[in-house]
Amino acid sequence: MASQKVHDEIKRSERESGTSLSRGEFQCQICRETLSLDPEDERTYLSKTEHDRLFGMQLVTYRVEHLMGEERHVNTIILDHEGYFRGHRDSYTEKTQKKERPRPNHYWRMFPGIPALSESRLFKLAFIIDRRERWVLELVAPENVKVPKLALMAVDRVDEAERVYESAPNQMTIKIADLELEVYLMDSRLLCAEAKSSESAPLIEKFAKLMASSKQIAPIPNKKLMTYALKVIEEHPEFLDHPDLVFHF
Ligand SMILES: [Zn+2]
Repeated sequence: MASQKVHDEIKRSERESGTSLSRGEFQCQICRETLSLDPEDERTYLSKTEHDRLFGMQLVTYRVEHLMGEERHVNTIILDHEGYFRGHRDSYTEKTQKKERPRPNHYWRMFPGIPALSESRLFKLAFIIDRRERWVLELVAPENVKVPKLALMAVDRVDEAERVYESAPNQMTIKIADLELEVYLMDSRLLCAEAKSSESAPLIEKFAKLMASSKQIAPIPNKKLMTYALKVIEEHPEFLDHPDLVFHF
């Protein structure tokens, strides 16, 4: 891991800054404005990545943006376990366009180099979205479907439902174009899938339950393992009733 790099960065930034910043505060690397975020409030940052403990500290990387005139400044910063600024990882600036939404409007394809299944006997389509980290991981993805676009639309629908209901449903069906997706909500993660037939439909729910029940949702899911699991389920759907025998996601 790049822990040495992080450590060097911390040292460098401590030397450079010389300023005393309060909890959650940092300076924009581009315009030097003092900004702040609240680690407890996910609306104050774009994404968050926790690192292994290092030198007795739990470091967390946050991506934070702010608007400055016609520009958007995005800073990637490191806070320690107490929420104090420990360094910049990087920063960049973008021109904003009028009417642009405040959050970046796209989802990264996770592991594009690892092939998803182009077809499956059970599912027309299956993918996982992480709303907080803003990625999409394709499990079954026919070549003619633009999954990142679909992810964006699916999240919009889920957001809509969360605004409408007092407590949001953890499962819903959404229609986009001619697709009818079953969506399961697990915190920031969504499992979206369309079954090929009414027989295979219940498997989506079992697969979702399996994901949700795994002891700890992996920060970065194992795409190879998950596509492999889907292959196994094709042959032996009964394994979903005995997940301990085969899978740990
Ligand atoms: Zn700035």
